[in-house]
Amino acid sequence: MTRKSYVIFVLISFFAFAKAYSQGITVQPSKPTASEIYEDLKKLNFLGSVLYVAAHPDDENTTAISYFANTVKARTAYLSLTRGDGGQNIIGPELRELLGVIRTNELLAARATDGGEQRFTRANDFGYSKHPDETLAIWNKEEVLGDVVWAIRTFKPDVIINRFNHRTPGSTHGHHTSSAMLSVEAYDLAGDASKYSDQLQYTDTWSPQRQFFNTSWWFYGSREKFEAADKSNLVKVDVGTFYPGLGLSNTEISSLSRSQHKSQGFGNTGSRGTSDTYFELLRGEMPTNDDVFQGINTTWTRVKGGKAIKTILDNLVATYDFTAPDKSIPQLMKAYALVQQLEDTHWKNIKSKELETIITAVTGLYLEAKADTNYATTGSSIKLDIEAINRSTQSVMLKKATVTVTDNVVASNQPLENNERYTTSTTLSVSDDFKETSAYWLREEGTLGMYKVADQQMIGKPETPQENTVTFDLIISGVPISITKPIVYKYNDRVKGEVYEPFEIVPAVSSRLESKVIIFAKAESKKIPVTVTAHQANFTGTVMLDKPSGWTVSPASYDVSIANKGEEKEFVFTVTPPAGDSEGDLSPRVVSGGKTYTKELIKIDYAHIPLQSLFLPNKARVVRLDIARKGNYIGYIQGAGDAVPDNLEQIGYQVAVIDPATITPELLSQFDAVVVGIRAYNVVDEMQAKQPLLLDYVKDGGTLIAQYNTSGRWGNTKIGAPYELTLSRDRVTDENSEVRILAKDHPLMNFPNKLSQQDFQGWTQERGLYFPNKWSSEYTPILSMNDKGETAKDGSLLIAAYGKGHYIYTGLSFFRELPAGVSGAYKLFANMLSVGKQEQQDIKQ
Ligand SMILES: [Zn+2]
Repeated sequence: MTRKSYVIFVLISFFAFAKAYSQGITVQPSKPTASEIYEDLKKLNFLGSVLYVAAHPDDENTTAISYFANTVKARTAYLSLTRGDGGQNIIGPELRELLGVIRTNELLAARATDGGEQRFTRANDFGYSKHPDETLAIWNKEEVLGDVVWAIRTFKPDVIINRFNHRTPGSTHGHHTSSAMLSVEAYDLAGDASKYSDQLQYTDTWSPQRQFFNTSWWFYGSREKFEAADKSNLVKVDVGTFYPGLGLSNTEISSLSRSQHKSQGFGNTGSRGTSDTYFELLRGEMPTNDDVFQGINTTWTRVKGGKAIKTILDNLVATYDFTAPDKSIPQLMKAYALVQQLEDTHWKNIKSKELETIITAVTGLYLEAKADTNYATTGSSIKLDIEAINRSTQSVMLKKATVTVTDNVVASNQPLENNERYTTSTTLSVSDDFKETSAYWLREEGTLGMYKVADQQMIGKPETPQENTVTFDLIISGVPISITKPIVYKYNDRVKGEVYEPFEIVPAVSSRLESKVIIFAKAESKKIPVTVTAHQANFTGTVMLDKPSGWTVSPASYDVSIANKGEEKEFVFTVTPPAGDSEGDLSPRVVSGGKTYTKELIKIDYAHIPLQSLFLPNKARVVRLDIARKGNYIGYIQGAGDAVPDNLEQIGYQVAVIDPATITPELLSQFDAVVVGIRAYNVVDEMQAKQPLLLDYVKDGGTLIAQYNTSGRWGNTKIGAPYELTLSRDRVTDENSEVRILAKDHPLMNFPNKLSQQDFQGWTQERGLYFPNKWSSEYTPILSMNDKGETAKDGSLLIAAYGKGHYIYTGLSFFRELPAGVSGAYKLFANMLSVGKQEQQDIKQ
C-alpha cells in the first residue's frame, strides 16, 4: 500500500466515526455531538470496571472492549503487557523500540475509537517465543508480575478478563500464555498487603470479584468441538449492540478500532448483527445471567455520599434535551460540586474527569493554550496564545488561566459571554519547571526483556503524561471548576487542514551518526560524520566521539557554534580500527555549559498517530572484520522496508534501490546480483508482474536472492520461485540455537569467505522465520537448525541453479543481523552475492 492511499483511508475513517481521536489522543481537542454527550451522561451513572489482559497491541477483543465501554458503560481498560516492539512493520522501516512507539499510539487510537483506556507493563516484546518458560526467563517475571499487580491495584477492576488460556502452554505465543498466567497469579496477590508492599505507599490493595477467560471456538480446535463442549461454566454475551445515536454497532466500532493497527496490516471490515462472545469463569461466583457484574454494586450507592449524586444524574439522563444540551449545566454543576466532597478519592478523581468532559461539551466550551512552536528548550521563551469561548446560554466566568508548572497567570477575571471569543497572548519563559516530554520508557537503556522505569508511578502509563498544561479556573452556574489543557502546537496544512502536534520540551542539542553499524572490512581508517542539531538559538559547545579501546579517533573534539534553532552542522571524525578483528560502540557526546548531551532525535510521522519526537541513546556499532566479496553492483527491491541496502554498502557494494515498476531486462542486466527485500511478495503488488523478468535475469546468469515472506494471513502469496517451494510458519526463535552445516563443501559456505559454526555466534533476536518446509530436488538446503525440543528445520537457506544463474531463498533474519553488526551474517551475505563468480577477479576493497 502506498503512503498516499493510506492517508486517504485515514481521512475516510475520520468522517465515518468522528468520535475517534476524541478521547485517547490528547493533542486533538474533543468535540462530541449531542448524542455522544448523552452516551457519556449514562456512563456517569455506572461505577464498575473491567480490565482486559493480553500480551500485545492487537491481541485484544475490540468488540468485547466496545461492548463493556459502550453498552455496559463500565470503565474498561486493556492491559497489554508489551508495546509490540518485536513485531513486523508493514508501513515503514521502524523496528524494535520505534515500532513499539508506533504500536503504543495505534492502541491509543484504537481505545479512542472503542471507548476503552490503555495500560502497559515494563515487559518488552523481544520477539516470537514458543513457550511461557522461555518468555518468563527473558522477562523479569517478578517485575512483570508486580506490574500486573500494580495495574490491578491502581485501576481497581471488579472483573478481569484474560484473552488467553493460562492452562495450555506451548499452544500459542509464549507471551500470550504468560499474560494469562500472570493475570491469574496477580488476581490473588493484588489483595495481599504483604506482596509488593512498596507499591502501597502510592495505592491500596485491591481484590477483584471475578476473573474470566474470553474463550472462543478457536481455543477448542474447531467450531464443531466448541458446539459439543460443556458450556455450564461459560457466560454467553451478545455483544452486537447497535447505538442509534452513533449510527454504529459494537462490531462496527470494533472494526474501526482494529483498523488502527495499521503497522500490522489489520485493516478490518465491520459486520452487523447478533454476535455471541463467551467468558469462561475462572474465579468468583458464576453469574446466573449474561451480566459479568451480577451482584456487584455498580451504582453511585457504592460510594459514601453517592446517593444524592445518583438522584441528580438519573434525572439528568431522563430529561436530557438533544436540541439544547446546555439546559443540563446547572444540574451537572450541582453534581460536580457533590463529587468534590466525596471521601473516596478513586471514584472522585474518575467521575470529576468524566464530568469535566461532559460539562465542557454541554457548555460548548472551547479552551486552548497554543505555543508558537512545536518544541522548545528550557531557558528559551515561547509565545502562548490562549483562546476561551462559551457557546451556551449559561454564564461562565474565567477567573484565572495559569501555566500549571510555573504558576504564571496568563488571564484573569474574564466573563465569557455566549459565543464571544476571548483571546490573549503572552510571552512565556520556559523554566526548568517544564517537564521532559520524550517517551518515558525509552529514557534509559533496558534489557532484552524489560524496559527500565525508575518512577513507580509512571509504570503502566501508556505515554508520558502531558504535564506542561494551562489550568483554566472557571465559575459555571456559580460553581468553581478547574479544567486543564495541554499546551499544544497547531498549524494549517494546505492538504490536511488543521493539524495539532504535541508541544515538546527538548534538550538543547542532539547528535546523529549516519549509520547504526559501520563495518571496517580492512584495517584502514574511515571518515565518520557526526551531525549536531541545535534545538535553541546561539548554541555553543564541543563535540567528541567516544570509541572502543584499541580504536583511534581524530581530532579529539570540535568546537560547535550554531546560530539558529533547528540548524545542524556536520563534523567529520577519522576513525581507525585496530589490526585484528574487533567490535564495539561509537557514541557522540556534546558538552555545553557543564552539561553533557548524548541523545539522538528520532521523529516518527504517520497520519494515523500524533508526531512522535524521541530522544534516544545514540551510538553506532563498529566492526572490524576481514571479509572478501565478488561482484560490485547490486540491485535491491524494497519490500516492507529494511536497512539491508545501507548495510551492503558498508562492506563495499554499490547498491541501487530499484522501483519495481521500472524493472526491465536492460535494467537488470547491469547488476551482479539482485536482492528482494523482506516481504516484498506480500506487500508489493508489482512483484507478480515483474517476477518473470527476474527469473529470465537468473536464467541468463544472474543471481536473485529473495528474503523472507510470510505465509498464511496474506493468503496465498506467490513468491514465483523457479522450482516448487512451499512457505511454512516454521521459525527458529532462539538466536543461540545450534546451526548445523548440511552442505559443508558448497560455495555458499566457502567462497570467498570460509564459514564455520563460529559465524553463527552472536546473532540477535532470532535465527529466522517462515522457512520453506517443502521444496523440489533442484534446491540444495545449506543449513539445519531448530529450537529446543523441535524437529530439524532445513529450509532457512535454499539455493538452486536455474539456467546459467542462481536462485536463493532465505528466511534467515538478515534484516535484523546486519543492522546489529553481526559479522557472520555479513560474511554469509557476501558469499550469497558472490555465488557463481569464482572465475571473476577479486574485488579490491
Ligand atoms: Zn499477540
